[in-house]
Amino acid sequence: MTEAHDLLIRDATLPDGRRGQDLLILAGRIAAVGPALATPPGLPTLDAQGWMASTPFVDAHFHMDATLSYGLPRVNASGTLLEGIALWGELKPQLTQEALVERALQYCDWAVARGLLAIRSHVDVCDDRLLAVEALLEVKRRVAPCLDLQLVAFPQDGVLRSPTALANLRRALDLGVEVVGGIPHFERTMADGAESVRILCELAAERGLRVDMHCDESDDPHSRHIETLAYQAQRLGLQGRVTGSHLTSMHSMDNYYVSKLLPLIAEAGVHAVANPLINITLQGRHDTYPKRRGMTRVPELMAAGVNVAFGHDCVMDPWYSLGSGDMLEVAQMGLHVAQMTSQAQMRACFDAVTTNAAKVLGLAGHGLDIGCHGDVVLLQARSPVEAIRLRATRLAVVRRGRIVARTAPAEARLDLPGRPDRIDWTQGH
Ligand SMILES: [Zn+2]
Repeated sequence: MTEAHDLLIRDATLPDGRRGQDLLILAGRIAAVGPALATPPGLPTLDAQGWMASTPFVDAHFHMDATLSYGLPRVNASGTLLEGIALWGELKPQLTQEALVERALQYCDWAVARGLLAIRSHVDVCDDRLLAVEALLEVKRRVAPCLDLQLVAFPQDGVLRSPTALANLRRALDLGVEVVGGIPHFERTMADGAESVRILCELAAERGLRVDMHCDESDDPHSRHIETLAYQAQRLGLQGRVTGSHLTSMHSMDNYYVSKLLPLIAEAGVHAVANPLINITLQGRHDTYPKRRGMTRVPELMAAGVNVAFGHDCVMDPWYSLGSGDMLEVAQMGLHVAQMTSQAQMRACFDAVTTNAAKVLGLAGHGLDIGCHGDVVLLQARSPVEAIRLRATRLAVVRRGRIVARTAPAEARLDLPGRPDRIDWTQGH
């Protein structure tokens, strides 16, 4: 049970540019926003000193069962997606529930300290013991006071290709996993991939659940599973409840075909999730030069009216050796890879790790409007763009009106002879 607290945040800048704003949180909800609010005496108060108060970061795509397992049992030598999947297959029989829980909790500590308060994590169901499912359901319960963990039943080895995957996936849903996952590009054929999309979308429709599939995570310009996913979302009335993750093949598709595809995705209300750190690392591995970037067409999807979020995907696991739960690093990489450098586009990259991602998860009460949860991250920045540029320090992280993490302000002092506050560049000339 998440406790609800009162807090007054004084003198904050908001992401939309309003300055000198107070945020009043009462019983864990935002009760008022405005300049110099008249408030009841004795409230706990956080002085924002003009820094930016943002709605918390949301990670729309992660793998918490694999996180912090880097080097177990060995390192991915080729750096490819397929070797990563093989390596994960080697590690799976050695996993213990205790170790899974411990690593996941450690990651959640990092996440909360960085203002990341909601994560959608895929959990592999292709282990008949469902060890990772049970471990992450336990983690979800334990972190709930500080972090919303939404789980996706993910058949890593293919729901048709792996003989017990579909039965395991149903068992995972019965245990409380709330989103239906899939990986059509890993099934044996394009036809099997399309069949897997149909089966899984029908299962989600039957149970009233959301769908999030790893979809077309390849450099194959002829991969067509996002088209099928959009078709099934439309046919089954799942608009707004379906997400296509990765969609990297779209990077390599023919432009004419994409001009037909984008409106179909928008019409079906399918969300798109790019994973910039992972896409730029894993894709294009079979290329010589020129070498493709491989990330999906983010600005074009946004221009077509599709809700696009960025995910972290991996942190120190068989697929990726770096990462720290910092969604500003994710946004910064997405901005660079997609060349989204206008002011509006940079701002959109901030939305991709906050509000857009919250829409993917279907989070209720995410935002800074009255009535939303009293969840706020105070950033040592004056705007969303500055936050991305500096990967701003999270001065304070607030959950339901309670300060759950603080970080000291970043500060650099010059220690040079002469003028204490400025370098004297005339010396030596
Ligand atoms: Zn993934």
